[in-house]
Amino acid sequence: MNTYHIDAYKDDIYTCVRSRCGFCFHACPVFLSKGFETYTSRGKCMIMKAFLEGKLPASQGLADRFALCTTCGYCTSVCDVDRPEIFNAFREDLRDAGYTIHRHDEIKETVEKQHSPYGSPDESLASRFAWKIDHGSPLLYYAGCTARYRERAIAEAMMMVLPSFDFLEEAMCCGSVLYRTGYRDDAMRQARALVSRIERYSTVVTTCAGCYKTLTRDYPVMGLQIRPEVLHSTQYLVREYKEGRLALSPVGKGTKVTYHDPCHLGRGTGEYDAPRILLEAMGYEVIEMEHAREMALCCGAGGGLKSINDTMATRIGSMRMDEAKRTGASLLVTACPFCVRNLRDAGGSELDVVDITELIAQSARHEK
Ligand code: SF4
Ligand code: SF4
Repeated sequence: MNTYHIDAYKDDIYTCVRSRCGFCFHACPVFLSKGFETYTSRGKCMIMKAFLEGKLPASQGLADRFALCTTCGYCTSVCDVDRPEIFNAFREDLRDAGYTIHRHDEIKETVEKQHSPYGSPDESLASRFAWKIDHGSPLLYYAGCTARYRERAIAEAMMMVLPSFDFLEEAMCCGSVLYRTGYRDDAMRQARALVSRIERYSTVVTTCAGCYKTLTRDYPVMGLQIRPEVLHSTQYLVREYKEGRLALSPVGKGTKVTYHDPCHLGRGTGEYDAPRILLEAMGYEVIEMEHAREMALCCGAGGGLKSINDTMATRIGSMRMDEAKRTGASLLVTACPFCVRNLRDAGGSELDVVDITELIAQSARHEK
């Protein structure tokens, strides 16, 4: 008898197919973009049930279909089962059967060879901030690949805000992109290397929502424990602010902003408040979008979707940008470089999109 990675989730798959409640349709970004049930969590559960019962064989069509999921977790928040975890397991089953996504294979190979999904990276950040980097510091700023190699203004802003910190000289992807595209063994290799590399620090801070979720939520699922405390930059900075080590000047007074909850930070780890507290501390007036916090719409970039279907990713991003524009805010703020990237691609010419770290860099003063 064949065994599959999704065998472990049979109960969850069958419970969904029996209940068929459909609560997961409303804000599934891929459903909103394509309009077919087959892309929703319920549709995916029906497909996996048919596969388990031998009624639907593995195929390239199934691999292509399951690749169209941002792993945003909206479906998890309405039915309390980690649905993307199940979809990732099925991506792995399809891969074992020989059906892969060519672009994801390429990314996997790049990470394997160069420890970053972005190929031959420009490593000039470390030398430019050498005056702040202290290799003996108990605090590590782990920028993650997107802030380090693509949305550098975010990494630079964080390096400006932190008085002193250590920084990894070498590229070292956390494995998130591999984990979310069905390469869990490869993600594990990458994760093990990072865990041993960061063992000596007391605190690891990252500006990337995806890295933060991977280190704090996915590594334990993979059986890995991290010794240091791991915080998202907004959590670290809000603590610094509350404990009086960071003062924020009211640079945002009189400015209306709206905040986009990154899926991996919000639904993925439950952190909704820290960014909002920081925005208010800087004097900004936060106007919520129609879908916020647990119900936030996805930016469209995650789960490897942007790398294989940029048109769909930006179409989803423009739905989010439209919501943001309807608030009347003059700025869309988020807390993840990947969200910044896709939302800017989707409509950044009509409404400025900025990472909260960039605002904090304009406002921060360190108290001795
Ligand atoms: S909300 Fe959950 S149980 Fe209901 S249809 Fe969607 S995946 Fe299935
Ligand atoms: S994780 Fe997001 S994109 Fe994927 S099925 Fe669930 S709601 Fe849709």
